[in-house]
Amino acid sequence: MNRIEHIGIAVKDMDISCNLYEKLLGSFCYKKEEVTSEGVLTAFFKTGLNKIELLTPTSAESPIAKFLERKGEGIHHIAFDVADILTEMARLKAEGFVLLNEVPKRGADNKLVCFVHPKSTNGVLVELCQEIR
Ligand code: ZN
Repeated sequence: MNRIEHIGIAVKDMDISCNLYEKLLGSFCYKKEEVTSEGVLTAFFKTGLNKIELLTPTSAESPIAKFLERKGEGIHHIAFDVADILTEMARLKAEGFVLLNEVPKRGADNKLVCFVHPKSTNGVLVELCQEIR
């Protein structure tokens, strides 16, 4: 894994939270994108080499809606940039980690993504992401 690509934060209200994070980070949201397959609206901020991704549900069945119900607003996942997602997925599987998807999915911000089950990572939802070239 190369570096932390972004930290995902679950929020209830995107407008209020965008405003808050613009003030906090002193930078503007550079992209908002809906990922319909996940039932989520995302907003991205640059923080040096890394990013902050805000996530809010667009449907009651969204995993983010369930997360907000269970845990409330806060850090949802940590995403690592990888050069080759298939190689990393195979490596993690061989190490005994539980992957939440068997094939990479198309995520927000031009990425192929795969999530690692928090049960196998001490309670932290980990996302692998590879830039789509
Ligand atoms: Zn993410």
